[in-house]
Amino acid sequence: MAPETAPTTTDAPPGDEPLIRHWIAGEATAGSPAAFGDVFDPATGRVAKRVAYASPDDVDAAVAAARAAFESWRDVSLTRRTVILFRFRELLNQRADELAAIITAEHGKVLSDARGEVARGLEVVEFACGAPNLLKGQFSEEVSSQVDVHSIRQPLGVAAIISPFNFPCMVPCWFFPIAIAAGNAVILKPSEKDPSAANWFARLWAEAGLPPGVFNVVHGDKIAVDRLLEHPGVSSVSFVGSTPIARYVYETATAAGKRVQALGGAKNHMVVLPDADLDQAADAAINAGFGSAGERCMAISALVAVGPIADDLVDRIADRIGGLSVGDGRGDPDMGPLITRAHRDKVASYLDAGVDAGATLAVDGRKHEITGEESGFWLGPTLFDRVTPDMALYTDEIFGPVLSVLRVETYDDALALLNANPYGNGCAIFTNDGAAARRFEREVEVGMVGINVAIPVPVAYYSFGGWKSSLFGDTHAHGLEGVHFFTRGKVVTSRWFPSSAGVNLQFPKNE
Ligand code: NAD
Repeated sequence: MAPETAPTTTDAPPGDEPLIRHWIAGEATAGSPAAFGDVFDPATGRVAKRVAYASPDDVDAAVAAARAAFESWRDVSLTRRTVILFRFRELLNQRADELAAIITAEHGKVLSDARGEVARGLEVVEFACGAPNLLKGQFSEEVSSQVDVHSIRQPLGVAAIISPFNFPCMVPCWFFPIAIAAGNAVILKPSEKDPSAANWFARLWAEAGLPPGVFNVVHGDKIAVDRLLEHPGVSSVSFVGSTPIARYVYETATAAGKRVQALGGAKNHMVVLPDADLDQAADAAINAGFGSAGERCMAISALVAVGPIADDLVDRIADRIGGLSVGDGRGDPDMGPLITRAHRDKVASYLDAGVDAGATLAVDGRKHEITGEESGFWLGPTLFDRVTPDMALYTDEIFGPVLSVLRVETYDDALALLNANPYGNGCAIFTNDGAAARRFEREVEVGMVGINVAIPVPVAYYSFGGWKSSLFGDTHAHGLEGVHFFTRGKVVTSRWFPSSAGVNLQFPKNE
């Protein structure tokens, strides 16, 4: 069963707002839209733009363009591909502020955070610039008499990338630089909530000299996604979003014979042991809990206080929350608005539900001072204490500025709590005890682990990905796993000999 999405569209054609169109075969096109969606400025609550939602025909046109481009792009030499990648890297680096401003206007995150996201995306572009080295095969001479063996990695074809709203730059960058460097063509279906960054990338690729059709963008919702998942011209699907949709995408696209990596939601824990530096831990909890208004897949939402430190830690966090500024991200306060009013209201609903369930509301984000237009999608940072594992505050991925403190007696209790959680994206431990940290990194069932690092997002040359319900598929994003995802291996055994060796029906032996 496909998960339902809340309707966010109208059939009404756009009014005065600019219309965001698809990018197919090197040109912007509105196609024949299935609908039009509103794109908000979250800091004012106003509709700033509209976006055309692709119909199945629009997706078909993008796939046809990508397939045609793939046939020649795969034959472009590594040297020429790399020249284009380096140009793209230079342009992205020069214009990072332009992209950050686009992200802040549609997502709401503060400018410095948007710049940070661009920097992390740039890292993957830089990694992909090493394609000649990353795509190297191996060669073994004389494995048998006059027989050599070598391996090669070849592109898959058309790579579909379906991305979430919370990182309109970094998440697509986890995939498309590597896919393109490896010789694939790409169709990016960004979130309909903040779609402009994808078109900005398309124009940048064109400026860098990428042939038309190698990088395409289609906008839209489930209709566009479903067509990509079933289309026979699409070879692979890289999805990032909430767990129910990730599971659906994985099951649907693998059934259609595609290679799939589907990264899902998260509930990230930060364990604080009694010997930890509590000021360091409190600073880290604030940064990881409330940065980007908690709308990060690596945000810490469950803080697990071990032993007698809980009261002290909660006080230190509460004090720091009082000093956080919340307002329009363009002015670069500490925290901006949430993505939509519906999402803001859903996150806020956890505050009353948490109190009703018996948790202690230590800091109420609804009372936080906001410097911004009243109509923005605001919710200040919220801290709950004495949260228990049965409460919705803990079981749900809230994806907002709500930090829950759970109190446990021992390290073993903390570990059992983490390992029982269905998600396994990121986690952290704060301690000065090296042996405890080492034990934690070995025993915790989570894909990305931080030791005194609250947001352990791996660098581009390692791979990003969670365990359990946080990732469906075998391959994590970027690093060598990313290179493998976007290529197929082939092993060639060859013999060159001066005269016939004669007929021999035996299974070939190496000698
Ligand atoms: P989402 O699941 O609502 O949307 C993700 C993508 O799926 C979007 O492009 C959207 O248009 C599309 N989509 C939405 N409903 C669909 C449906 N019914 N069928 C097919 N496609 C559909 O996620 P979101 O709200 O944009 O992003 C937040 C979520 O993403 C959070 O759960 C967060 O944890 C997760 N996330 C995970 C990672 C990770 O690395 N694991 C990274 C970033 C975000």
